Amino acid sequence: MSSEINVTYRVARPLPAAQEAAWRSLIVEMAAEVPEPEDVEVVITDEFDKVVAEYLATEVDLAFDPTLATQYRAARSDGARAAARTSPQPGGKVVVAASIDLFVLGLQSARHCLLHEAQHVRLHQHGDVAHAVHRRVPFALPEDEFTWEFLWRAESAIDEFRCERTVHERGWTDPGNVNGPLDLNGVLDTFRAVRAEYRRTDDQMRAYEGAFASLDRLATVLGYGAAALVAGVTPPATWAHVPAMGRVLDVLEGLPGTHVVLPREDVLATATEMAKRLRRIFQELGFDCYFIGDNGDRWFAVN
Ligand SMILES: [Zn+2]
Repeated sequence: MSSEINVTYRVARPLPAAQEAAWRSLIVEMAAEVPEPEDVEVVITDEFDKVVAEYLATEVDLAFDPTLATQYRAARSDGARAAARTSPQPGGKVVVAASIDLFVLGLQSARHCLLHEAQHVRLHQHGDVAHAVHRRVPFALPEDEFTWEFLWRAESAIDEFRCERTVHERGWTDPGNVNGPLDLNGVLDTFRAVRAEYRRTDDQMRAYEGAFASLDRLATVLGYGAAALVAGVTPPATWAHVPAMGRVLDVLEGLPGTHVVLPREDVLATATEMAKRLRRIFQELGFDCYFIGDNGDRWFAVN
């Protein structure tokens, strides 16, 4: 018998039989995508935020303080909502938290999302994730160029691009999951809202958190958008007059899907370039973050 992914249900009441059958067949498809399915656990839940927060507390290579993990919310400031999340755990285990809401938009959408998450798992099991790659190879931050905040988002954009590229190349695309300029506009609106609130309140820490949450979404939307563009799912004209995409496309487009294992040095070099581009976009939107002095202190500015 072939290896299988472990499945856990965290639901208040049993799923309808048809939905449970759909989950089972999608999880078989996920298992075919990952090198070691026996080290993977899919947690199907009706309490997505809570389950994600639980696994965040022990997640490997977290970009932020684990005590903040309980604050995880699936809802994003631009109205987007996460329904699945891959979380690497100690001992080489990888957990995919999956909301039962995945099926609200239909089977094709759920399939796109879960097979995208399977690509994240594959990157983890290949040791090929961009996320935190700067901790796995010798690296000195070029302090004149960008702060850590930009590097983490750059790494995340690379992983999203590669996972989505594979989804499209394998023909699993659900059109509703493709990010386009309208999605980007929604994110740009959130930057405007952060600025407007800062003007009103002068609350710099809140503006810092809001602006970088928006940059999180911007990196993801550009990663998703670029993948659809490069895979030929979105015609080039769609993004032709969007400056932010013009800033990053040449960095991302050379990255392969998840079937190729890249040298870590190459991934880090791409992440470094991507971090510069993200900072440039951030500056063009009227924000900046940079080092002051020699002890790692950063200054966040709204211009
Ligand atoms: Zn992803």
